[in-house]
This record gives sequence, structure tokens and C-alpha cells, in this order.
Amino acid sequence: MNKLGFMEPNFFKVTHSYPSSIISCIHNAPPHGAAEVSRITSLVNESTTSTRVLKDVHLLLDGFLDLAEDNTSKDLETCGVLGAFLKEGTYYVTTLIIPKQDSTSSTCQAFNEEEIFAIQNEQSLFPVGWIHTHPSQSCFMSSVDLHTQYSYQVMVPEAVAIVMAPTDTSRSYGYFRLSDPDGMKIVRECQETGFHTHSEPLNGASIYEDCSNIYLNPNLRLEIFDLRH
Ligand SMILES: [Zn+2]
Ligand SMILES: [Zn+2]
Repeated sequence: MNKLGFMEPNFFKVTHSYPSSIISCIHNAPPHGAAEVSRITSLVNESTTSTRVLKDVHLLLDGFLDLAEDNTSKDLETCGVLGAFLKEGTYYVTTLIIPKQDSTSSTCQAFNEEEIFAIQNEQSLFPVGWIHTHPSQSCFMSSVDLHTQYSYQVMVPEAVAIVMAPTDTSRSYGYFRLSDPDGMKIVRECQETGFHTHSEPLNGASIYEDCSNIYLNPNLRLEIFDLRH
């Protein structure tokens, strides 16, 4: 274990798959003789428009829906920020920060963001994405979500937007990113705020897509900073 409480990833065998009806967990051949981890593979769209090779992101997010439960029961969103360290070309998510926030049924706005940066800086963590709930909406990326995701993805190309939609019976969660370069370009050039529509890329690509570089690693331990209270 290092100082972050992270266990070497080649220690245990995978004993369970993350529950989901839409996302399948396949057991890949271990990349470096490591124990198996579960790769998220979307059944919806395996193709990617990305032109660059993305680093893998390992994570295990237990407990976020529990932390969100109070809000969810009131039809309010909850958001959190993922912190990861980079080791031998792979990001390992070890930290979940729940910032102070204002939310509605379709928005969640973090404030006192300097508190997030302080934790990330102190622990030398990369802002490798964010997670939020859609308490009553389906599992998708709103236009506001796409702009939020842009601000992460422009810093870290591997940044992931995790949407948890407990009332969406067809898909309860998703791991999304803007397509690169098409989706990134559309959002970068968009000056609108609030909810609005974006034109789709002319080449038939989607503005956002399912991530193909996310692995569920049961050896990870998540440290949670809940700054709301
Ligand atoms: Zn959203
Ligand atoms: Zn826009």
C-alpha cells in the first residue's frame, strides 16, 4: 500500500462485476501479467471517433448513490469530482470529492471550487472526471453537462463524465466523453449557456460517446471528501 491507501492492482482476482443491465464486464487478458479487472464495454456503441490513444482509467465507485440519496429523494441532482493518480501510464481514481453545491432537478453547480483544487493539489491528483446524478431524468448528457465535461476534458483528455440515473429503467448509468476532435470543437466554439441545442458533427459522428478506456478495479479504495456540511 502506498500513502493513498492504494493496493497494487495485481493483487486479487475479480470476484464480482459491477451491476448493470446495459454495461457488460468482460475479463480481458491481463495487460502486464496483472490480475483481471473488468473493462466497461458499452453495448450501445463500441466505436470511437477519437484520434489519440487514451490512457486507461481504473476506478471503483461505491457509495456515491448513498451519498446522493437525500437529494435524489427530493428530485435534486448531486455532483462529485474524481481525483486520480497516474502510475505507469494508467490513471487510478482514489478520491471522490463532493463539493458544496446548489442543485435542481436538472442542474448541479459546485461552488467554493478552491476547496476541490486544494485537495487535488495537496495529494497531487489529476481531475480525471466527474460524476452526477439525474434523479428523475434519463441517462444522457445535457448541453450543460457537455460544457462541464469540456472543461475537464480540455485539462485531461481521459476525463470521464459519469451519469447515474437511478430511475432510468433502460440504462442506470453511463461513462461519457466528448468525441475528439468533433465534439470538442463544437463545444469549444459554442458561446451559449443554459440548456440549448448543439448541431451534430457533419461527418455523422456523435457529439459525445461512451468511454472505452474505463476499467472497474475492485482493488481500489476510494477516499471520500464530503464538503457539503
Ligand atoms: Zn446531467
Ligand atoms: Zn453549447
